[in-house]
Amino acid sequence: MSKFSAYNFSGQKTLIRVDFNVPLNDKYEITDDTRMRAAIPTIKKITADGGSVILMSHLGRPKDGPTEKYSLKHLVNHLSKLLGGAAVAFANDCIGKEAEDAAAKLQPGQVLLLENLRFYKEEEKGNEQFAEKLAKLGTVYVNDAFGTAHRAHASTAVIAKFFPADKRMFGLLMEGEVSSAEKVLHNSQKPFVAIIGGAKVSDKILIIENLLERATDIIIGGGMAYTFMKAAGGKIGKSLCEEDRLDTANELIKKAEAKGVFIHLPSDSVIADKFAADAETSVAPSNNIPDGWLGLDIGPNACDQFANVIKRSKTILWNGPMGVFEMEKFQHGTKVVATAIAEATQNGSFSLVGGGDSVAAVNQFGFAEKVSYVSTGGGAMLEYFEGKVLPGIAAVQS
Ligand code: AMP
Repeated sequence: MSKFSAYNFSGQKTLIRVDFNVPLNDKYEITDDTRMRAAIPTIKKITADGGSVILMSHLGRPKDGPTEKYSLKHLVNHLSKLLGGAAVAFANDCIGKEAEDAAAKLQPGQVLLLENLRFYKEEEKGNEQFAEKLAKLGTVYVNDAFGTAHRAHASTAVIAKFFPADKRMFGLLMEGEVSSAEKVLHNSQKPFVAIIGGAKVSDKILIIENLLERATDIIIGGGMAYTFMKAAGGKIGKSLCEEDRLDTANELIKKAEAKGVFIHLPSDSVIADKFAADAETSVAPSNNIPDGWLGLDIGPNACDQFANVIKRSKTILWNGPMGVFEMEKFQHGTKVVATAIAEATQNGSFSLVGGGDSVAAVNQFGFAEKVSYVSTGGGAMLEYFEGKVLPGIAAVQS
């Protein structure tokens, strides 16, 4: 059982860093509550134990202190609904007398939401005194905000040291994220395939370099594949290409060869005469795309090629779509990859989808329930894949 699940929160005032950075419309209505729903199991476990909960979060990017638009008070009613109608108290400040009085008044089973942490610039600066003032509000610290785990902010990292090791821990959401990421990067069953797609090589170099140390196969799809094609002497028409990364692409291929990691590039592509939903399309070898045309999805042979590698893998990591999946004509490759991952997962493989647009794709195509884990933390998961130490994780674990 995990540390959080085993802990009895009865009688404790638990300060939880959540990620309630949800989108609001101009009437202050929440347009996507995914992040709030993700924190509910953690809150419910604590209140069910007979503990009280103090929630702290940021919302948006307020520049000049308290701003109506970024107030967390807009979330109170919806949070109460998500908690089955339980009352949620609100403090107009996250530190100082108002927050301290509200925290002191809390009874077992009650929930308090503090005002936006980023109304203080000390939050993002990781200011120690500010972290200490927050820490005073609770007796236990729980970090359940994986989305900000890559930031060394006061509430996500610095605060942890004001709690003894047995009174600081991850919440259920963060435990899920950390254990899935660790399983893939540090404990993977082989063969381990990493599927990397999306637009730019430059965004993914560090990830590919880190994965060269861990994976047996790396599939490269999406717009970034064409930089690799051109670097190897191919003709790519007007496909996406980062001219200043041609050497990097060749170096990555050389490193992979030296390490015995197989790099799989799409043998063919769905090509288009323009970057548009109503473009004329055809299929061509990815290294022989006619002038004036551009590759916008992996082709039928590449679909088979990639699906075969995925289906024989025991560990699968997916970051980035195989094509311009936002347009119907170019989403087939991404769907084929998602289907192959779902099939492998059903046959016992472990699959993690993380970071950005591949998460949007699995949600859009209805595959979220068919993979082992879908990460909620875009930037945080990317940094984890790059092999970086995330301050929010390190502070709790140290
Ligand atoms: P990223 O944020 O790096 O994962 O990139 C995701 C974006 O890459 C999506 O918006 C896709 O439409 C885009 N993309 C994928 N394949 C291609 C391609 N072949 N050409 C241009 N853009 C692409």
